[in-house]
Amino acid sequence: MIGRSKVDQLLAEQRDYIAKREAGYRERALKIYPWVCGRCAREFTRTNLRELTVHHVDHDHDNNPPDGSNWELLCVYCHNEEHSKFEDFVRYGGSSEKRREAATHNPFAGLREALEKKRD
Ligand SMILES: [Zn+2]
Ligand SMILES: [Zn+2]
Repeated sequence: MIGRSKVDQLLAEQRDYIAKREAGYRERALKIYPWVCGRCAREFTRTNLRELTVHHVDHDHDNNPPDGSNWELLCVYCHNEEHSKFEDFVRYGGSSEKRREAATHNPFAGLREALEKKRD
C-alpha cells in the first residue's frame, strides 16, 4: 500500500518535473523567437513577459526539438483561443493526416524574415 505522504511526494516530484521542463523550453523558445505573439502580433518586454507563453504546435508537450520547430510564442489570450480551436477540431473531426500537416507549419518563419528585412 502507498501511504499518503508517498503520494504527496510523488505528486510534488511530478510538479517539479513539469515546472523544470517548462522553464527549460520556455527559456529556449524566448531566445530563438522574437517576443511577439504569433497571432495578434502584440509585442512583449521584460515587464509583461510572463503573459507570453510557449505553445506546442502539435500539442505534445514532450516534443521539444532544440530548433524550436514545435514551439510558437502566443500571448495568454491567443493561447487560450488556440486550445479551444484544437479541442473543437479533435471533437468535431479532422484526420490525423491534417494534424500532421499543421504540426510542420511554422507561422514564425515568415515573421522572422520580415523582422530581419526591417533591420537592414
Ligand atoms: Zn496574441
Ligand atoms: Zn498550447
